[in-house]
Amino acid sequence: MNINFFAPTKMIIGSGCVLTGGKLLSSLGKRCLIVTGKSSAKASGALDDALSVLEEQNIAYDIFDSIRQNPTVSSCKEAGEIAKSINADFILGIGGGSALDAAKAVAVFAANDLDESGLYSYNWEKAPLPVVCIGTTAGTGSEVTPVSVLTASDNRKKSIRDDRIYPVLSFGDAKYTASLSDFFTRSCAVDALSHSIESYFSKSANDVSRMFAIRSCELLLPLLEKGAENLTSQDRDSLYLASVYAGYAISVTGTAFPHAMGYFLSESYDIPHGSACAVFLSDFLLWSQRFAADDAKNFSIKTGYDIEEVINIVKKTTPTVDIRIADSDIDALYPRWIDNKGLLRSPGSFLPDDANALLIKLFKHY
Ligand SMILES: [Zn+2]
Repeated sequence: MNINFFAPTKMIIGSGCVLTGGKLLSSLGKRCLIVTGKSSAKASGALDDALSVLEEQNIAYDIFDSIRQNPTVSSCKEAGEIAKSINADFILGIGGGSALDAAKAVAVFAANDLDESGLYSYNWEKAPLPVVCIGTTAGTGSEVTPVSVLTASDNRKKSIRDDRIYPVLSFGDAKYTASLSDFFTRSCAVDALSHSIESYFSKSANDVSRMFAIRSCELLLPLLEKGAENLTSQDRDSLYLASVYAGYAISVTGTAFPHAMGYFLSESYDIPHGSACAVFLSDFLLWSQRFAADDAKNFSIKTGYDIEEVINIVKKTTPTVDIRIADSDIDALYPRWIDNKGLLRSPGSFLPDDANALLIKLFKHY
């Protein structure tokens, strides 16, 4: 059995952990750039907590708050230039997956003179600045992964994955997730569920990734079965933990076809990331049951849920994705699926024809 597991991020989870653990920031330097979006860091209280810690530690900061959902490479480059101009010692990302993924790319731009192709070439002369993350959603798992998913100038989502962009330090306090709408809570929760299920059935799975994937599902499935509305603070703690465990799982395996196909829905129809991926999750479960039957049996034994029950939970939780796609647009996507890593990692052999057939089944424009 081959195991390859690396989790270098100091991950601190718990109530009040930013305030109590903030002193760890002082070892990273005297000046930082905060990378965040327009609202969630403020509404959640995470930004206020971060600012009070920075002030207490005498760390100067500037705030770049123009990161939007599906962050662009150009916005990361812009923030990177600001970080350079203030001689930032580290980057502090606050928010959901968009802000945290952006913070990792900003750290690369801040240390190097690169354009977009330089970013994706991985020929970075200098090591990225250290990245610290404060998560405000329970979904992404980006707090513990070496992955940054960005929208490139051709409007395609392209990720960078490199050990040099692991956050050095991440904080998770589930109270920050309480200000999210029910819609967004559900979208983030099904993102975490997609991560754990795609990882579990991935051809790249190993014993360690499966341990995290199963623990994540053990936390998520009963919670989502009950309903992702009116969550208690204990439920939010569980949801957040599940999202981090799912992050550890995909840091080993990457994701499979639901994420590969979900990226297309986010790019072209502006569907939130979690819903865009989870809309393919029921079919991924059926596909896995067919082509990885033993794994599916084990999954059910370990989680206590059979595949049909999981599908019912996915359907109940995933916000509706109400789009129709013309046949010609589906045909035009074919080249995108050739040698696509997410398809290749899926069980059996999920081919470009299978991807197009699934799009026709779910979104055909009659
Ligand atoms: Zn995701």
